[in-house]
Amino acid sequence: MSETLIRNAHSVLTMDDAGSEFAGADVLIRDGVIVQIGEGLTSTGEVVEASNCVVTPGLVNTHHHLYQTLTRAVPGGQDALLFGWLQTLYPIWARFGPEEMRISALAGLAELALSGCTLTSDHLYLYPNGARLDDTVDAATEIGLRFHATRGAMSIGESDGGLPPDALVEREDAILEDCIRVIDAFHDPSEGAMVRVGVAPCSPFSVSRELMRDAALLARDKGVMMHTHLAENEEDIAYSEAKFGCRPGQYAEELGWTGPDVWHAHCVKLDGQEIDLFAQSRTGVAHCPCSNCRLGSGIAPIRDMVDAGVPVGLGVDGSASNDSSNLVAEARQAMLLQRVSRGADAMSAREALRLATRGGAEVLGRHDCGQIAAGKRADLALWDVSGIDSAGSWDKAALLLAGPQRVRHLFVEGRQVVRDGLLRTIDLAATLAHQNMLAQRLAGPT
Ligand SMILES: [Zn+2]
Repeated sequence: MSETLIRNAHSVLTMDDAGSEFAGADVLIRDGVIVQIGEGLTSTGEVVEASNCVVTPGLVNTHHHLYQTLTRAVPGGQDALLFGWLQTLYPIWARFGPEEMRISALAGLAELALSGCTLTSDHLYLYPNGARLDDTVDAATEIGLRFHATRGAMSIGESDGGLPPDALVEREDAILEDCIRVIDAFHDPSEGAMVRVGVAPCSPFSVSRELMRDAALLARDKGVMMHTHLAENEEDIAYSEAKFGCRPGQYAEELGWTGPDVWHAHCVKLDGQEIDLFAQSRTGVAHCPCSNCRLGSGIAPIRDMVDAGVPVGLGVDGSASNDSSNLVAEARQAMLLQRVSRGADAMSAREALRLATRGGAEVLGRHDCGQIAAGKRADLALWDVSGIDSAGSWDKAALLLAGPQRVRHLFVEGRQVVRDGLLRTIDLAATLAHQNMLAQRLAGPT
């Protein structure tokens, strides 16, 4: 039996149904599960003093492309719109292999962990030079984060009128075959699972209608979730209308891509009808505010979505379009962006934090995560509010208004991944040195 007592927290934000908050409370965790929240609890296990810390559920990242951590701030893509940005980066990504995939994922996961993330999804949709989904699962297992890998894919290359170069697309039968392989190898449907697998064609403009449909049939047959990019910007809508004769929401619905087992990234341009469709079908949305700002895509109507009942979580998106994997910064950006379009009362700091925790867990189908309650998984972030970031704050639990950008401690399944601001599970300096070596090699002559 392994037990840890988090003692005398400054405050505990539970994100339970009632939004309960406790001051001076203890949290007892045992064998990866939260056992009790209260005052004066005792334990024979490890004790973590938390009087300077706000305790929240671990943050949940619902959209990422971890492989992109190696291509941040690439000069040709810094100021490009989505399609031009992709065309700048595709040739660089075509030079990746298993080593780049694993190290890039490890660096991205490290940044996520330090910014409070305990559960992340990843969307890997290109597999050059022998790269496999396995490379990212290895990285997540090494660092100890809960991981929802999605087997992405592109099948329409330039010669067929698509956007990606032909070298980065795969045959559709091979894609479906590999989806089955990785689901069978890694997907764990049980409560408390550390790894789950989803099926995730890259976007409606990089795969065929048939693959979208077949991927949905396969995912439902296997009982796994489905993910893709949808309605990201005006170009995306124009493409859908010109190519498919309908808006993205209708395209998704026709091909089986709505339902509680589906979540779409971005959805910046969903209209009122599409929001209703997503609410009624309980289709999830991964809101990526920094990426939307970075690529000038627009402001997603998150206030309307939440009010309508659409499940919404947050995502940092790939590190080539953010370019940061700082999830708590993403939550602050989500709060600020709704205020830009709807006024200062459009979204509170606590509501944005709720989207970043409970909201994300619900989008990923993880009802065992995302809140601090007895019986839920022990995924916890401890934020030290005694430092400069919180100095002078009258409400230290309003972390997204004034609070730290890094966690002091992070627990995943009861295991301490970050202690006193440092990763315990990997050698971060070695990872960064490896990452820099690979980035230099990619930037060098081809
Ligand atoms: Zn993305």
